[in-house]
Amino acid sequence: MEAITLLFLATLAAAAVWAGGAYFFPFRDCRKCGGTGRKVRHLNRSHYALCPRCAGTGSVRRPGARLVHRTVFAIRSQSARARHEARERRAADRAAPDRPQTGHRARNY
Ligand SMILES: [Zn+2]
Repeated sequence: MEAITLLFLATLAAAAVWAGGAYFFPFRDCRKCGGTGRKVRHLNRSHYALCPRCAGTGSVRRPGARLVHRTVFAIRSQSARARHEARERRAADRAAPDRPQTGHRARNY
C-alpha cells in the first residue's frame, strides 16, 4: 500500500519534471546533422544542403513537447475565455440603467 503510493507519487513527480523540461526546453540538437543544420553530401563535398529533418535550424522538437505546449495553450485560452466572460458580465452590470457609471470611461481626463 505504502509502496504503491510512493511509486505513484514518484511517477507523478517524474511526469511533472518531464513536462516542465519539455515546456521550457522543447528543442534538442538534430541527430541527423549533429546540430549544424547542414546536410553533408559525401559524394560532392563542395556542396552543402540544408538538413531535411531540421530544415537548417540544427534543432528539432523533443517528442512530447508539442503535446505539452498544446495542453498549456488549451488551459491558458480556457482561463482567458473565462476572464473575458467575467469582464463582459461586469460591463453589462455597468451598463445597467439603475447604477451610476463607474470605471475609466466615466472619468474626465
Ligand atoms: Zn538537422
